[in-house]
Amino acid sequence: MNTKKIEHIGIAVKDLEKTMNFYENILGLKKMAVETVEDQGVNIAFFQLGETKIELLEPLNSESPIAKFIDKRSEGIHHMAVLVEDIEAKIGDMKEKGARFIGDKPTKGADNMKIIFVHPKTTNGVLLELCEPLDEEDK
Ligand code: ZN
Repeated sequence: MNTKKIEHIGIAVKDLEKTMNFYENILGLKKMAVETVEDQGVNIAFFQLGETKIELLEPLNSESPIAKFIDKRSEGIHHMAVLVEDIEAKIGDMKEKGARFIGDKPTKGADNMKIIFVHPKTTNGVLLELCEPLDEEDK
């Protein structure tokens, strides 16, 4: 079985500091990391929640896909990420079965992961991310 678990839930937020305060101090989750992914135009904070994580995404500028998402649909749940084994093989297998992806191959995402998004047309509106930890040599 090469699809392992929900790795994280991604949530689009306008104000990372303010939202982190809720998850850390009010809900009481452990903050793992805060990082900037310039490629995707976001600041990201991760919180551990059992075997999974909450990923908060704050846009860096108005061109960020997260800024566009918030403009169109407001803040809230943005995507669900599934941990897979051998992401390239998984993409190939899913393409054979008719899935469409955003982009051709995985890119380097936050949290030292290779990631790719399945096209929402394939998933009936859910933005689904596949992710796999980067190999040592890719870091
Ligand atoms: Zn994600």
